[in-house]
Formats: sequence, C-alpha cells, structure tokens
Amino acid sequence: MQVLKFGGSSVANATNISRVLDIVIKAARKDRVALVCSAISGCTDSLLELARTGRDSAERKHLIDSLQDRHNNIVRRLFTGAERAEVEARIAVLFEKLAHTPEDEMVTYGEIFSTTIIAEKLRCEGLHTKWLDSRILVVKDHPELTYNNISTAVALEPGVEIFVAPGFIASEYDGKVTTLGRGGSDYSAALYAAALQADRLEIWTDVPGIMTANPKVVPSARTVPVMSYQSALDMASHGAKVLYAPTVQPAMEAGIAIHILNTFDPENPGTVVKDIPEPEVAEWMGVAATDDKTRGEALICLVSNGGINGKSACERVEDSLRKAGIKTLSISSDGTNVYACVRLAVANEALRAIHREFFESAPSTTLNIYIAGKGAVGTALVKLIEESAETVARRAGKTLHIAGMSDSRNYTIDGQEGSLSAADGAFFKAVRENAPRGSIFVDVTDSKEIYREYEGLLREGLNIVSSNRRALSVPYVDFAAMQAAARENGVFLRYETTVGSALPILESIAAGANSSDEIISIEAVVSCTLNEILSSYDYSPASFAQIVRKAQEEGLTEPDPRVDLSGKEALRKLLILAREAGVPLEEEDVEIRPVVGDEFFGIPLEEFYRKLEEAEPMFKAREAEADEKGCHQRFVASLEKDSRGPHGYKAVIGLRLVDENHPAYRITGTENAIIIRSTFHPYPLLIQGAGEGARLAASSVLNDILR
Ligand code: ASP
Ligand code: MG
Repeated sequence: MQVLKFGGSSVANATNISRVLDIVIKAARKDRVALVCSAISGCTDSLLELARTGRDSAERKHLIDSLQDRHNNIVRRLFTGAERAEVEARIAVLFEKLAHTPEDEMVTYGEIFSTTIIAEKLRCEGLHTKWLDSRILVVKDHPELTYNNISTAVALEPGVEIFVAPGFIASEYDGKVTTLGRGGSDYSAALYAAALQADRLEIWTDVPGIMTANPKVVPSARTVPVMSYQSALDMASHGAKVLYAPTVQPAMEAGIAIHILNTFDPENPGTVVKDIPEPEVAEWMGVAATDDKTRGEALICLVSNGGINGKSACERVEDSLRKAGIKTLSISSDGTNVYACVRLAVANEALRAIHREFFESAPSTTLNIYIAGKGAVGTALVKLIEESAETVARRAGKTLHIAGMSDSRNYTIDGQEGSLSAADGAFFKAVRENAPRGSIFVDVTDSKEIYREYEGLLREGLNIVSSNRRALSVPYVDFAAMQAAARENGVFLRYETTVGSALPILESIAAGANSSDEIISIEAVVSCTLNEILSSYDYSPASFAQIVRKAQEEGLTEPDPRVDLSGKEALRKLLILAREAGVPLEEEDVEIRPVVGDEFFGIPLEEFYRKLEEAEPMFKAREAEADEKGCHQRFVASLEKDSRGPHGYKAVIGLRLVDENHPAYRITGTENAIIIRSTFHPYPLLIQGAGEGARLAASSVLNDILR
C-alpha cells in the first residue's frame, strides 16, 4: 500500500487535478493507493468566512454560490455527458447540506467536495475506487482507534485499487465532526499510512520538497534531498509550511519514509524524510520563521541536523543580521538549532540574510596543504591550522586540509606513508603527482637544496608559501626563474615570513615597487639574536663572550653562534628585501662587516669563546664610544641609493651606531624594525614589531596561505 496526499494547490482546478490523476493512476499500476486530498485552494478559508456570515444573509448566499461555481467549473471540465450531470447533482446535494450545517462544521466540507469529484473521476477512468469517510475513521487524539478503523475499512475491500479519503477532517471521540487543524491533511495522510503500514507516504505539494527556506520569501532556497524526521519536525514546527508538523510522528513511529514531492514537477525527487543516524559533523538544514503578530515579532529558527557549537552559531546569525542592518531582539541555541527573534516587519529580510550566510555562501574551497618541515615552525603551523580551521571556514569560506607532511626522513600524503623524503625527493615527487592544481606547498624547512624543487612544483600548478630564507636568497637567476614559473602558471610564491616574521614588510616594499615608487633606502634591523646580544651587552656587566655563551645556552643563537655573528642571516634577508624592491642584488654585492673578524671563524667553538674573551677590551671600547655619542649599537642591513654601487645601490651589513632619533634606538631584543625611504613619500615608512617565535612565524605562513 502507498499513501499519496495532494494539497490544495494540487487540486485547485481541473488542469491541476488532471496532473494529480496522472500521478495517481501511474502509482496504482504498481501498488494499491490510498489517496488523501485537501480542499481546493482557498476553499477552507472561504468556508471559515462563510461560517462567520449570518444565516440567510446575502453574503452567505454569495459565498456559497461562488464556491459552488468553482467546483462546478471543475466538474464541467473533467466530466462529460451523463457522468457530468451525475457529479453535478452530487455536488449540488453536498452544497444543499452545507447550507444547513451548523457553522462549526462548515469547514469540513471542502475536503468532501474535492475528494468526491476526484473519486468519481477515478471511477470513470475505470479504476476500482472507494471513497472513505475520514469523519468516521479518523478519531482525533486516538491514533490506535483510528488505525483500527482504517485498517478494518480497507480490509473489507480487497478488490479496491484506489481508496480516496478526505484529509483534514475527523471526529471527536464522542462522534462530533471536527478537523485536525489548519494544514491537517498531511497529518491525515500520515495516519492512513501508519494504519495501513504503507510502504510509502508521498506528500505532493507545490514546491520541490522541503527547501532551505520558503522559496516565496527566499528565491534562492534549494531543496534538501534527505532529512531526518527530527529536522523535518523542527522545520515544520518553526514555520516551514510545506509540512504540517504533527505529520512526522505517526510516520516516524511506523518507520515510513515521507517523500515530499512537487505535483508540478513530478520527476523532481524532492525530499525524503526518514530515519538517519546523527551525522558526525552537523549540517544546516534550513531556516523558517513563525510570526507572533500580537508582539509584532518573528521567531526565526535555523535548523541543523546534529550537535552544533551554539555560541559561535549564534554569533554568526547575529553577525549576518547586523550586516543586513537588522537588530536581533534575542538569540539562543539549544545545541542543535539557533533561534533569533526579530521585528516582524523585517522578518523576510532577516530570513534572506540568514539564508545568504548559511546556505548561499560560495561553496567552501578546500585548500590542500603540503608541508615540508616538522621543526618548530612546522609543528606550530599544524597546531595553528587545527585551531583556526573553524574560524577560517567561517570568515574566509576556506577549508584548510593538511594533505601531506614531511620531515627529512618520512612523509605522509593523505594517509599513505613514504620514506626518504627530502634526501631522494620522494615527497616532492609524490606531491607533484598527487596534489590537485592550486594546492599549496609550504616550505618551513631550513634546507638550502629545497629551492631546486620550487620550479617543478610551481609548474605543476602548486602555489608555494615559504619561510625558508635560504631558498629565496639563492643566486638571482634562480630566484628570477622561480618567479617566472609562478607567473607563467598562474600560481603564487609567497615568503613574507622570511623577513621580519609576521611583519608585513615584503608586501609593503612590493606595493611601492609595483607602483614605481623608487626606494631611496632600506634599513633593516632584522636579527633578533644580534639585537638581543647587543642590547644585553649594553645593560649588563657581563663580558661580550659571556653574553654570547648565555644566548647560545638559551637557544637564542644557532647551534654555532658564529652563524649569527657572521651576519649571514641578515645577508639573506637583505637579498630578499632588495629583490622585492626590484634590485637584483647578489651576495657578492653586499659589503659585510661581521661583528668579529675572520680569525674567529674556522676554529673550534671553545677556542672561539677564549678568543672572544680576549677581545673584550675591543668590545668595551666600542660600547664606550657608543655611550659617549649617546648612541646604541645595532646590527643593520641596509640598502641605499648610490650611483657607484652595483645596480645603483650600496648594500652593507654590519654594526652601526644609531642615535636616539633613529627608530631602531629603542627596540628590544626580539623586535625588528625596518625603515623604508622612497621617492614618493616625504616621511619614511617604519614597520616595527615582534620578529621572533615559531608561533608568530606559523601565523605569518598561514596568512600567506590565506591571503
Ligand atoms: N484544507 C485544510 C487547510 O487549508 C487542510 C489542508 O489543506 O491540509 O488548512
Ligand atoms: Mg498543506
């Protein structure tokens, strides 16, 4: 047995009824049908109005006449000859009865009219049809009795192909005729389905299933293909008119799926409401609203199919309303749905705003990320991505997915393991082969070889984000080749983190260079380690050697502190800065004035420290000179316009005295400061701030990923 229910607009006129008949006859070829129908659209409203008019009033007569005309028109269109006369006569009898019915029972006639016509028509089509009187079978608030009545009535008629029953109407336990409430025909259908243990319950209406919102209010609403009983109930009981809320329970208890279909687009699969396990990740199902006319408010309900983070969902709803200029009167969440109260006048706009935010946002793009390097920055990055995934998805509509990761020995790509990654290039090969175009390769290694992979990755359509300074300070030809590969393949190569960590330095320089603002000079105090050592030496009584040793022990320096003292790191940063400014600087173009002379290099570490201690008078003298001049010593990488220098610039790295007017005078150990002077701007651009820490670097890398 299958139960098919058609709503008021599906039976509104002869044309629509013909569609209904087509659908029903087709269904009857497969299995027996119980057909439940509403009154023709507008009929119930007219009957309620009728009941309010005075007996024998002209108004009543007029209302009855026009209703009868509507039904007769349908009859005239559907039937011919003797059949037409017969059905017209039956309708006339029913209208005669209506005129003498107690006011409170008038409303029950609409479904009797419609089903009488439809049952007659089916009979004329040659189908073995039987009209069932829901006023006798359906006993309000007594489902067991109702089930019993219906199943018995049907069991008595084994030869019948199609049972036709009016929806909406029923009787009280004491036999008085009543209704199941406005929209109640859906519920009638569910009762028939449960009583007959139907295989299928179809609710045919004028929209393609349960939609993410009422399409009359929100034109961009779309059908939700599958919904749980609970979500359907939540939608229905909070204002979705497509389904009468009480319908859900009998169907759910009997385990019958409810198919919600469109009479005017019968091939559309619509929505199936059925038993589905609660999903691991909740999804938004739709948004509906109920009006509270007396308070002038509307309660909007955003329905989800599982557990949600109520707090952030509430914030998101409020945000979307605020953006639309709508005030939220109250907001709450029960951990599944979100409820927002707004003024009635703006209810439709609020529905559209919430729908836009939750159902129309561009489909979230997934960013597949392949990370090379599991050091401090790599580890911090993974953690940061995990922590910020939800915010990123919400704010930027991007889903972050770490699709692969490698250290110097092993790698994984979406669950598959591999080994000898960096050494034999297996990871890069695997990334090139597996990563979809547009994925992001992240280099958080310190490798000086990895840059050789960049071009190949870029040419495969991967974007690259790098914090690896060595990779970007390679000879200019190689640097230029990477840039060209990125440009030619429509991908990006971003490396903001390589200078000043999260400070927006390269971006600022490139912005100037791209608008042909010519750089006059760049001064960069970008070595946190040297900064820390120099400022500690300024304040503490310890010797320079002791300060360096302490910094080494605290892990502030490279394992061999001479790497820092040599200025090599600052040199790399200067190359990157200069190239960003359009100056193709090479290592050999830079004059390096290391903190200590050549004799300190190429000797064992302990000997180095001994020599450093011996050189203490020299450091003392330098410091004394600085103090005398009211200056601080800073390790500065600078690029300055100079027509005699290579590429028209002079590049120097080394100790400098800066007086109190210099922006770098007051910075602390872990701060960076960059001063950029250019032709367009009378005042220098100063970028200053924290320049150290794995977490900071990770946030800068993530920023490059998302930018
Ligand atoms: N005809 C009734 C109404 O308009 C019942 C229904 O259509 O479901 O409320
Ligand atoms: Mg309805």
